Amino acid sequence: MKKLQVKVGLILLSFLMVVTTPVLAAPNGNAKQALDNKIVKRIKVDNIYEHVSYLSEEIGSRAAGTEGEARTIDYLVEQFESYGYDKVNVHEFTFTSRGEEITSYNVEALKEPMKNHDTEQQIIIGSHHDSVAWGPGANDDASGTGVLLELARIYANTPTDTTIKFIAFGAEENGLWGSRRYAEAMSKEEIESTVAMFQLDMVGSKDAGDLIMFTADGKTNTVTDLGAAAGSRVSDIVPYSELGRSDHVPFHHLGIPAALFIHTPLEPWYHTEDDIMDYISKEKLHDVANIIGAATFQITRKDTPALEKSAVKPVPVDYDYEEPNL
Ligand SMILES: [Zn+2]
Repeated sequence: MKKLQVKVGLILLSFLMVVTTPVLAAPNGNAKQALDNKIVKRIKVDNIYEHVSYLSEEIGSRAAGTEGEARTIDYLVEQFESYGYDKVNVHEFTFTSRGEEITSYNVEALKEPMKNHDTEQQIIIGSHHDSVAWGPGANDDASGTGVLLELARIYANTPTDTTIKFIAFGAEENGLWGSRRYAEAMSKEEIESTVAMFQLDMVGSKDAGDLIMFTADGKTNTVTDLGAAAGSRVSDIVPYSELGRSDHVPFHHLGIPAALFIHTPLEPWYHTEDDIMDYISKEKLHDVANIIGAATFQITRKDTPALEKSAVKPVPVDYDYEEPNL
């Protein structure tokens, strides 16, 4: 009985495909993706993979205040500068952990808009460069930092009408210190002009589940709208859910639309010494880079300051809430 049902379904499906193919091939679909392709086609997943490998294997543990962190900062600055960024800021901050004062750093590359097409808006793309002290943090969060670097490389030569701040935060594992210190230092004008914050944390594990967008309040916002729509164009529609626990939180508290992109359920290696390259998937890294590349370009490219004003309609999609499943 079941087999027969499947066969009937397949026949029906074949029929539908024949009938609907011309509609699906309408040029509108191609035009829509042509803009995404200005970023997506240039993503080289091997670059991302090499960053993850360098951070987790060549350096290893990158806990705040350690030699591993110092080497990480050097690497990030060197990479950003090699892409042509002349405004790379190393933001030093301190925090106290178990009675000890620790110094840590955020590293930020500033992508400026075209001179004559400046919306005077900005977005933040973030990750955290530190790991837990006892592990190499290949997925947590060398993966997000690798994607961040590759997108920064591509955007360095891409005209935009919106400022992009690429920020690798420090001391996330100690309690979101880097992003909290960064958010505290933002002026009123900076806060008001920041229209979206995309956080990439744990985006490459073979052994984790599917991509999800977490907001601190469990509500949709500009970032999740852009992420879901981009997913529908270049991958799959991305659902959303509610969770804090990463660097999107301090920006949410400032009223900035922010979301964490992560695969759930989490892999068994999470926060263990086995969070290593062996369990990193190039496909997953590439998929997330495509989605974030397409989502951020939609809001930063010329004449598309926001979702509703896009020259080429982003086709806002319906996307679902899922219960957090860690
Ligand atoms: Zn993390």
